[in-house]
Amino acid sequence: MGRIVMKFGGTSVATSSRILSVAEIIRSRLHQRPLVVVSAVGVSFKGESKITDQLESLAELAHAGKPFDSNLEAIRTKHEKIIEELELSWDSVASTWELLTKAIANTNRPYREFLDEIFSFGERFSSRILSAVLNNKGIPARYIDVDELGSITDQNFQDATVPVENEEQVLAGFRDEERILVIPGFVGRTPDGRITTLGRGGSDYTAALVGAAFEVDEIQIWTDVSGMRSADPRLVPDAERLEVISFDEAKELASFGARVLHPKTIEPAMRKNIPVVILNTFDPQAEGTTIRNERIKHGKVIKAIASKTGVIRLDIDSTSMLGASGYLARLFNVFAKYETEIDVVATSEVSVSLTVNNSRNLDKVIEELKTFSNVSLAHGKTIICVVGEGMRHTPGVSGRVFSTMGTAGVNVELISQGSSEINITFMVDDKDAERAIKALYYACIS
Ligand code: ADP
Ligand code: ASP
Ligand code: MG
Repeated sequence: MGRIVMKFGGTSVATSSRILSVAEIIRSRLHQRPLVVVSAVGVSFKGESKITDQLESLAELAHAGKPFDSNLEAIRTKHEKIIEELELSWDSVASTWELLTKAIANTNRPYREFLDEIFSFGERFSSRILSAVLNNKGIPARYIDVDELGSITDQNFQDATVPVENEEQVLAGFRDEERILVIPGFVGRTPDGRITTLGRGGSDYTAALVGAAFEVDEIQIWTDVSGMRSADPRLVPDAERLEVISFDEAKELASFGARVLHPKTIEPAMRKNIPVVILNTFDPQAEGTTIRNERIKHGKVIKAIASKTGVIRLDIDSTSMLGASGYLARLFNVFAKYETEIDVVATSEVSVSLTVNNSRNLDKVIEELKTFSNVSLAHGKTIICVVGEGMRHTPGVSGRVFSTMGTAGVNVELISQGSSEINITFMVDDKDAERAIKALYYACIS
C-alpha cells in the first residue's frame, strides 16, 4: 500500500492526553508513511471555546484598537498547559509566538487580511506541538510552516481556494523527505505572500490538497465520531453510520450541513480518485465511512439527510423579467460581484427565489438588485437536503418526502432537485426543522 494522509481535527488535539493518543495512532500507521495534517486546538469540554474562535475575538479587538491583553494571555495559557503536560519546552513554539505578537501589532491593513494571519497561528501552534511530541517519541517529524506548504490560493480571504494549477506546488520541496511531515491545516497564502485561510473547518480541504499533490492511496479524516451518519447525530442520536458513500453524495451532504466533512475536500480527492475515510480518534479500531468513486445504489433509496439553519431567502421579481433572457445572468452577476454565495435557487417565469447562508455584503447585493427588481427577504429558514444515489431514476421519492412533511404538519417552501437526481432540497422554517428531520428519518431511512 502507498502513502496516506492523516488529518486530525480540533477535538482530537484539544488536550495533552489526546495529542498523545494521536501520536500513537500515527505510530500504528508508520508503514504507510503518513502525511499528517493538524487543526488548531479545539474544545475538550462544553463551554470552552476553540482556539480558532479565540483568535477571531483577539483579531477583532486588536484591529478595532481595543485592549486585547487578556485574550492573548488566555491563548498563551491554554498552549502552555498542553506544552507543560507533554513535558515539552515553550521553546518548541517560541518563535511562532513571537510572530503572533508581531502580527497582532500590524493592524494597518484590511481586517480580512489581518484576521487570516491571526487565524493561521492556531494551526501553526498545534502542528509545532504535535511535531515535537513525535520527535520526543522517537518518530522523526518535520514541522511545515505556511510558506513551505506551498498552498498558493486566490485572494478570497477567509474562504480561499487553491486553483487546480497550483496544486503541484503543495509541499513541492518535500516529496523525498523521510521524516513525518506535520502540516498546519486551514492555511494558505496568496502568490504575493499574504496568509489566507480556506474557510472554517477547512483543514479537511488541506488534507485533500496534500493527498492530491502526493497522489496518496487514502485521505483519512480523524475526528470525534465514527464516520458520517445518515443524519446529524445531535438531532437524531440513533442515526446509523454510513459505510460507503459516493463522492457526489458526500458533496451534497457536506455542502448542506454535515459538518463532519468540509465540502471543498471532495473536489481534489475526486479528481485524483482518492478515497476519503472518516475515522474516530477516540475509537481508532472502529470502522468509519469510506467516500469513494462508486455509485452504490443498493440499500435505501434515501441514504442520508443534512440540514443548514439560519439561512436567508431572497424573493426577487421584476416586470422586465418576462421574456428577458439576460435577466438571470444580470441577477447572478450581482451575487458574483460581491462574492455572496448562493445555495439553492428556484425560478418561475416571473420570479426567482434563492438562499444565501451568510449575510456578507448582502446589503450591497440587495441595494444593487433593487435598481432593477423588487426584493424581499425572509430570515430564520432551514434548508433540508435528502441524498441518495438510489434516487436517480426512482419514481415517487419526492412524493414520499413531501407527504411525510404534510403528515408532520411542516410547511415546505422552495423546492429544488439537482440534475444529478441524487438530492432533493427544500426549505422550512427554523422552528420546524428538527421535527421535519426526525419525521423524514423515521419515515424514509430507519
Ligand atoms: P473536527 O474538529 O474533527 O474537524 P467537526 O466538529 O468539524 O470535527 O466535525 C465532527 C462533528 O460533525 C461531529 O461531532 C458531529 O456533531 C457533526 N456532524 C454533523 N452532521 C454529521 C453527520 N451526518 N455525521 C457525523 N457527524 C456529523
Ligand atoms: N481551526 C479551523 C476552524 O476551527 C479549521 C479546522 O478546524 O478545520 O475552523
Ligand atoms: Mg471539521
